Amino acid sequence: MGNEHLAALEKGDPELASLVREEEQRQRDKIRLIPSENYVSHAVLEACGTVLQNKYSEGYPGKRYYEGQQVIDRIEELAVSRCKTLFGVEHANVQPYSGSPANLAVYLAFCKPGDTIMGMGLPAGGHLTHGWNVSITGKYFRSVAYGVRKDTGRVDLDEVRTLAKKEQPKILWCGGTAIPRTIDFAGFHSIAKEVGAILVADIAHIAGLIAGGAHPSPVGFADVVSTTTHKTLRGPRGGILMCKAQHASAIDKAVFPGLQGGPHNQTTAGIAVALKEASTGAFKKYAHAIVANAKALAAELTLRGYDLVSGGTDNHLILVDLTGKEVPGKKAAKALDQAGLVLNYNSVPFDPRKPFDPSGIRLGTPAVTSRGMGPAEMKQIAIWIDRGVQAARTDDGAALDRIFAEVRELTGKFPAPGL
Ligand SMILES: *Cc1c(COP(=O)(O)O)cnc(C)c1O
Repeated sequence: MGNEHLAALEKGDPELASLVREEEQRQRDKIRLIPSENYVSHAVLEACGTVLQNKYSEGYPGKRYYEGQQVIDRIEELAVSRCKTLFGVEHANVQPYSGSPANLAVYLAFCKPGDTIMGMGLPAGGHLTHGWNVSITGKYFRSVAYGVRKDTGRVDLDEVRTLAKKEQPKILWCGGTAIPRTIDFAGFHSIAKEVGAILVADIAHIAGLIAGGAHPSPVGFADVVSTTTHKTLRGPRGGILMCKAQHASAIDKAVFPGLQGGPHNQTTAGIAVALKEASTGAFKKYAHAIVANAKALAAELTLRGYDLVSGGTDNHLILVDLTGKEVPGKKAAKALDQAGLVLNYNSVPFDPRKPFDPSGIRLGTPAVTSRGMGPAEMKQIAIWIDRGVQAARTDDGAALDRIFAEVRELTGKFPAPGL
């Protein structure tokens, strides 16, 4: 675990170098349970830290606005072709800077300001960019939100259909950031077809599970598939839009020149590497292990009296309602971070508390699975979470510090990729 990779930074900017080292230490020592985070490989890190950084390449391969694209074109084409093969899509655009700009490009491709769009509400597990009111997507479009049923914590497609028929959205979004259950892409497809909406599947969280065969694919059902590249897919921070050939031109024009300028070529290279990694047998095993770990962790939490939204999980993510444990989500999340268990506070469906101080916590298994942890470690993590939540309730900081000491012993045995 040499530190030669920071040698130049150490010399040129020791202050910044030491901050990076501190963050490395944090990622090494703590158990990272934020479901949208991961550890990229050394290969991905290296690809992102290259001279590709130095090149401008507005446009698309073969149609650029600057000269000198002999190599950049081949890199982007490699990323695109790997993406098309991995997900089985007709067209892929790998230029979006991240998930949010990718989604904004979808609006630009298919909507005019003021048009009606429909997505899952943020408190129910949707993403800001699916029309939530504080987002540009809720301000510039007439946004209608669907939610989950109170009794099941799951989407009710009959309710979605009734609402879609009444509101006639131009775009129907499925997917989100806090959905612990399998998304019924076929069901959404039939609704979108009935009302003549463009169906967009936002698979930001589950792209890696889909690539590895651990979650059904929206391809064949959705008109457009939007994803980030840095969550379960385990690539650098970026976004991809995939679609049928008929929408290729609208999507490409929306990304550039509609929304963005030059693509981040160093990121495109890292995405190409991540897509290659995601097409291996090892990654298939990884994707299935993420789900097995999440199910194991969910079962252990349930055993300890934790109330899981929808009663459990089908994927990488668990949403816990802490109301019965008498600790608000934010207080629990902060205490658990002190104990070396990093997750985030989160609203739960029908949350009576405010979004900045909600009732729940959200956690997931992509990062711990990247370290090679399995069901035995998930049980230990559930025990620590339970002790940490109790310590949060009684404001017992010393107990949290004791947990962190135990956590460090475990993480020392599971080296993190890329560190
Ligand atoms: C993370 C996420 C996004 C946004 O991605 P950023 O890269 O943070 O902009 C969009 N949609 C969903 C469903 C997400 O989970």
